[in-house]
Amino acid sequence: MRIDLHTHSDRSDGTSTPTALVEEAAEAGIDVLALTDHDTATGWDEAAAAAADAGIAFVPGMEISCEHAGRAVHLLAYWPDPSYGPLAAELRRVLEGRDGRTPRIVERLRAHGIDIDTDLVARHGRDAAAIGRPHVADALVSLGVVRNRDQAFDQWLSPGRPGYVERYAPEVEEMIRIVGDAGGVTVIAHPWGRRDHSDLMLEGLARLQGHGLAGVEVDHQDHGPEQRAELRRIAAELDLVVTGSSDHHGTGKLDHELGCNTTAPEEYERLRSLALRATPVPEARRP
Ligand code: AMP
Ligand code: MN
Ligand code: MN
Ligand code: MN
Repeated sequence: MRIDLHTHSDRSDGTSTPTALVEEAAEAGIDVLALTDHDTATGWDEAAAAAADAGIAFVPGMEISCEHAGRAVHLLAYWPDPSYGPLAAELRRVLEGRDGRTPRIVERLRAHGIDIDTDLVARHGRDAAAIGRPHVADALVSLGVVRNRDQAFDQWLSPGRPGYVERYAPEVEEMIRIVGDAGGVTVIAHPWGRRDHSDLMLEGLARLQGHGLAGVEVDHQDHGPEQRAELRRIAAELDLVVTGSSDHHGTGKLDHELGCNTTAPEEYERLRSLALRATPVPEARRP
């Protein structure tokens, strides 16, 4: 049983359509696949239909851009009702923040003599509901400014680089609550992926658990073997669900092949039963 609970399609910054992603997952021997595009559920229907055709189980998810202690945190949400008012409103706000950021990034890059415009970024974002820096990176590659997304982030788009612009992100505590009210469950994505993760050690994770957090993504390419062991120990102490996943982005990110990390079946079952037990507020649909 191979379970991959974190992947992206071209509805955000992955490079495959939801259908192609599901077909690739089936070919890679994945039995359970979650689509977790950034801040959008727009790929769910297509992916669910493709999964039914391919004979694999589909988990509707999303990776929500949040903030915690003033820093970016990615929150994986599984089985929430995306039409639940407060969730839909927050996602709209995040997507508007993304759309408002692109022209400001473009303006900064133009001030550095790069002949980029928002139309070019939009062409690279084509079917994406969540336009992001990776699409700006693809535009820079097409202009010959950089070789790949990695170099674009290193030289232009990361914090402290000339093209970096902040955008709106909700507080993670608040989002954990909203996703729970929407009938979903939450898992912190790659909690120790960034250099300073002092706010996501035992105490910080325990506090988030108090707000309803169900699990942590332990097996992720951004975590080394020692980090995985330590994070697994903390998760066991707190009784948090442990997940593992590829964070696949198609050709948009190297070394994140489908199924390169997987979630243990018993951990997946825990997550599923927590979602079934989550009591959505009256206006939210059941998962
Ligand atoms: P954004 O959400 O638009 O601010 O962009 C952040 C996204 O860019 C993350 O979700 C990553 O998937 C992607 N990203 C960050 N660094 C890199 C990199 N060095 N190469 C490729 N993609 C990256
Ligand atoms: Mn991404
Ligand atoms: Mn992420
Ligand atoms: Mn991701």
